[in-house]
Amino acid sequence: MTRIILWDLDNTLLDPRPPERLAIRKCFKDLDLGECTDEMLDAYPAINNKWWTMCEKGEKTKDEILVGRFQEFLSVFGRPVDKAPEFLADYMDSLGDNIFPIPGALDTLRFLKGKVKQYILTNGVWASQRKKLCNSGVIDIADGVFVSEDVGFEKPEKEIYDKVLDIIGCTDRSEILMVGDSLTTDIQGANNAGIPCCWFNPMHKEKPSDLRIDYEIDEISKVLSIINLQQENMN
Ligand SMILES: [Mg+2]
Repeated sequence: MTRIILWDLDNTLLDPRPPERLAIRKCFKDLDLGECTDEMLDAYPAINNKWWTMCEKGEKTKDEILVGRFQEFLSVFGRPVDKAPEFLADYMDSLGDNIFPIPGALDTLRFLKGKVKQYILTNGVWASQRKKLCNSGVIDIADGVFVSEDVGFEKPEKEIYDKVLDIIGCTDRSEILMVGDSLTTDIQGANNAGIPCCWFNPMHKEKPSDLRIDYEIDEISKVLSIINLQQENMN
């Protein structure tokens, strides 16, 4: 039975897209880079994803990605590439200024407070995640936060789970539920670590056959049904 939930943050509890767009617009203004059009903003996620995929494959380090995606972005739109480090610093600082929760996510978190232990497990850097966690109130609701940069490993590495479970003093992995939107990090990671997982799949993407997916939900509040169901089965 689930006593501990490990929540992914981006695209599970918080929608990162609107804050990304607002932050990029702000950087253009702050650094005097001219007009930032919707077309440019629309192009950014594909560039960003491309770089993060290189990170997941181990082809680039995180530092290379953080600045590299903006070098490419600025270059594609004919802006000075040497502004990328400054752009990155401003972007990281602005990312948490605007919070767009995934519908129902924060209510679910609040409802479960005290009923199960809840920890945030996010791949990322403190510089960008801290403000998001604070301004959304997630940091106050959760029992703890683990950012991969601090833990020293990334999802889907088994070691990040081993280390986190050790810190929170959990010896029975069946009591955990990893909830996240990403097959390559959250679900693959839970598979690697041998812990139950719940795939948040709001777009109803096709379920892969090569991964163990114990639960699938299209709304975050449906985590409550999973926990209720487990309790009913126990009785
Ligand atoms: Mg995510």
